[in-house]
Amino acid sequence: MADTNNIVRCPYPDVRIPENQSFYGRVFQRVKEFPTKIALVDEISGTSFTYIELVNATECVGSALIKLGFKKGDVLCLYSPNSIEWAITYFAVIAIGGIATTANPLYTTDEIQYQLKDANATYIATSIELVSKVKQAATKYTKLKKIIVFGGKTLFDCTSFNTLMGDKGDAFKLPTINAKEDIAALPYSSGSTGLPKGVMLTHFNLVANIQQLNASPYFLSTHIGDCHIAVLPFFHIYGQILILAGGLCDGATVVTMPRFDPKQYLSAIQKYKAIRLFIVPPMMLFLAKDPIVDKYDLSSVKDIICGAAPLSKELQVDVMTRLKCNILQGYGMTELSPVSHFSPTKEWRIDAVGVCIPNTKSKIINMDTGVALGPHMDGEVCVRGPQVMKGYLNNYEATANTIDKDGWLHTGDIGHYDHDGYFFVVDRLKELIKYKGFQVAPAELEGLLLTHPDIADSAVIGVPDIVAGELPKAFIVKKPGATITGAQICQFVEELVAPHKKLRGGVEFCQEIPKSPSGKILRRVLRQIIKDRLKSK
Ligand code: AMP
Repeated sequence: MADTNNIVRCPYPDVRIPENQSFYGRVFQRVKEFPTKIALVDEISGTSFTYIELVNATECVGSALIKLGFKKGDVLCLYSPNSIEWAITYFAVIAIGGIATTANPLYTTDEIQYQLKDANATYIATSIELVSKVKQAATKYTKLKKIIVFGGKTLFDCTSFNTLMGDKGDAFKLPTINAKEDIAALPYSSGSTGLPKGVMLTHFNLVANIQQLNASPYFLSTHIGDCHIAVLPFFHIYGQILILAGGLCDGATVVTMPRFDPKQYLSAIQKYKAIRLFIVPPMMLFLAKDPIVDKYDLSSVKDIICGAAPLSKELQVDVMTRLKCNILQGYGMTELSPVSHFSPTKEWRIDAVGVCIPNTKSKIINMDTGVALGPHMDGEVCVRGPQVMKGYLNNYEATANTIDKDGWLHTGDIGHYDHDGYFFVVDRLKELIKYKGFQVAPAELEGLLLTHPDIADSAVIGVPDIVAGELPKAFIVKKPGATITGAQICQFVEELVAPHKKLRGGVEFCQEIPKSPSGKILRRVLRQIIKDRLKSK
């Protein structure tokens, strides 16, 4: 499958990718074929929207936003659990040429403030329980013009989402867009190193990734009436593009759930007779092992799509045997809109993350020389294709360190391919930690730890965990005479961060943090210490 330069392509034909279509235009392109089908259902309240109602709602909300002063290129932050309101606001913003920056609803005040400021967001849409955090963030970040509140509530100094929905839609207008330049979505990712950064995904990037997966009969062809149970968060690119947009563009019903509740999830699969599940490895563990799974009829499920973090072969086999279905892995990252590799529906292979999707090239390079390697040799996975992000917002250096001058995106993951062009991801070169598929940026935790008066130096790495994949663990050098304990450090961090960033891997005190002559933390030395310890157990 690799050519003479060791560049691997998709084994299936390319698909047509329109050069200048808006993302909104692509997602709702086929609505005339299924106007009265249910597009969105809120599994908790039972509220639902047909496709035509959804389009009308996005036009009303888009029109209302324009009347509130929202202009092309303005940024609105979505900060709430999954809901129909989230989806309507997201598409309304993008339709009128705005940029949707999406944030984890579990973020603390400081975390949301960081993203609002970095993204230069002037509008925010949030749920009622999060309004106080937003207001607190707004005391330090003063550029917010409007707070929009979901949930049918009216607060005197905020705009109710229902008021936007009540708009006549008369100001709604699709702007002229330059699909390759204009940004539609701005999710956050730390990438290979450093703090979370805004990932600029253009209309073209997102249209491309939808086409690459949905327009090829060899991959994710969704059918009218399919059902996507949207339990994975929309703020993450997986939930946003594969589950939400990918479902709507082909007439599926997207069932929104604000969080993972085992019983609710299983009963939704049974109720909607879902053919396909979109999940992450910790949910695979649940499906493989939890006795409650046997209490539900999951016989409709034919394909399980799993991505966002490494999946063990054993777990794949366990779920495949228990549910008698295909396990299709996908691989990618926020910076790839998000998919670059996916399992072909009919020719998926255990353990492989799939093959290059259409219109995508991939190579594995030697980490020292940059030379492209042949089959079965481990190196860094690189990707080139229309789904490669435009870059990191206001961060030329990080962009240049990630996308080289030939357009190859260096993923920071280690892997290899076989003679048939199937890829296997075996390790991570970059410092990113993934807890249950959620990103934890070590640099962010190290920065926080250094603000503690008793801490002289710190380094954070991920340690393996069977349920979560990895747990953040801190190595700490105390200041002379300091008496702080590991538990106190964990507590200190816990109060400042979203739950997935807690130091669940614990704290270990040491004399010094291993560093390169230029002062870079040598995380691989720390990781090796942990690996050696685990081996000797
Ligand atoms: P995110 O940007 O949050 O989607 O994280 C992207 C990172 O998740 C990748 O660079 C990988 O380290 C990891 N990842 C995503 N999919 C897979 C997969 N199928 N197998 C192993 N790691 C994965």
